[in-house]
Amino acid sequence: MSAPAKRSLGQNFLVDDAYITRIVDGAGVRPTDTVIEIGPGRGALTDRLRARAARFIAIEKDDELAKMHEAAFADDPNAALVHGDALRVMPSDLPFPGPYRLVANLPYNIAARITLHLLEEWGTDAAAMTLMYQAEVADRIVAKPGTKAYGSLSVQVQAFCEGWRLFTVPGGAFRPRPKILSAVVRLERRPVPLFEAGGVDRAWFRTVVRAAFQSRRKTLINSLMLAPDLPSERDVVEAALRTAGLDVGIRGDSVNPEGMVRLAAALQSTTPAAAV
Ligand code: SAM
Repeated sequence: MSAPAKRSLGQNFLVDDAYITRIVDGAGVRPTDTVIEIGPGRGALTDRLRARAARFIAIEKDDELAKMHEAAFADDPNAALVHGDALRVMPSDLPFPGPYRLVANLPYNIAARITLHLLEEWGTDAAAMTLMYQAEVADRIVAKPGTKAYGSLSVQVQAFCEGWRLFTVPGGAFRPRPKILSAVVRLERRPVPLFEAGGVDRAWFRTVVRAAFQSRRKTLINSLMLAPDLPSERDVVEAALRTAGLDVGIRGDSVNPEGMVRLAAALQSTTPAAAV
């Protein structure tokens, strides 16, 4: 008998075979790939992913589940269990070298943070990802400018990746059954992140993007002027918007990730603190 699901670890286990197959197929694992599964749980996806990959790593925080997988992998030199917190694990902690293809049914409460950790800290090692989120978060990740879902998370993720929402998964596919819908997203890392191609420092880009969406009802210029780390003089911010080719009256949610990079570059050159 397995232990009851732990809410604190976001444990909603997949039990519907049709969706399990769709996720494994959607991951597009090739025989030469090193696959990482974050949070293998009771193993709904694990053996099928392991069977398709050259090497396989599972990262699990739950002590009991980690032990279970460790025992199951004991005789397989190409499989390893890393017992730890996916928010802290770095490629240097892993037994096989990257690049990796990551697959996960993520704990909802930390799904966006894990995604940003992988994108920002793992570099090109996080080459491709097939990740399940709460549907509303999946929509935000792939959202296009001018839509309600488009915001800071969309720009931050899309600066690193191209993304596709693959399909929706109903609550009935899990035990315990969540009240919300889930959705699977595929992310493929760009060879060079958009901000890097635009000569913008990563931390500065994040500061500008967060500021741009801080007050969604305001125009972009007013949101930026309110941000503590950005210039507060209207003429300076207005000049940066013009340099970036953006209308002075535009709102943040109309600016695509490339426009945000141009804006961050223009603000970077007017802000001494940004010269890192
Ligand atoms: N993959 C399994 C499935 O689809 O049935 C389990 C998915 S369940 C939504 C999330 C899994 O992530 C659980 O096994 C949980 O213990 C694990 N987990 C939660 N927080 C974690 C963390 N910070 N680092 C690594 N694993 C974590």
